[in-house]
Amino acid sequence: MTEAEQYICIGCPIGCPLRLEHEGDKIIEISGHDCDRGAKYAKQEFTEPRRDFSTTVAISGARWNRLPVKVNRQIHKDRVMEGARIIHELQVEAPVKLGQVLIKNVFGEEGIDVVACRTMDRVIS
Ligand code: SF4
Repeated sequence: MTEAEQYICIGCPIGCPLRLEHEGDKIIEISGHDCDRGAKYAKQEFTEPRRDFSTTVAISGARWNRLPVKVNRQIHKDRVMEGARIIHELQVEAPVKLGQVLIKNVFGEEGIDVVACRTMDRVIS
């Protein structure tokens, strides 16, 4: 039996409404996209939806008390909450450099790291 999923493409501000028809795991047709990026996005959303993840964590010894951080690669949508819990337990001590790895292989997956999004020097009081 053919079923359909609906998505809104996030590839550009147009936001094409996408329709993906499938039979179980098998994609039958993708429609509604004005360019190939939309079809690629719908396929990705259906097969393995992934998300960027960025937030802030506590930092001590710096001018500000929150440090912006991000995961350096998109993570599976189902792991976002797990990632949030892990990252929010992080306590960082200044100084920190832009791009510095704060948690390596965050989900036990090689190459998925939490990194600092800015440099914060140590404040000497
Ligand atoms: S399908 Fe192409 S034109 Fe439409 S929203 Fe996505 S990127 Fe933009």
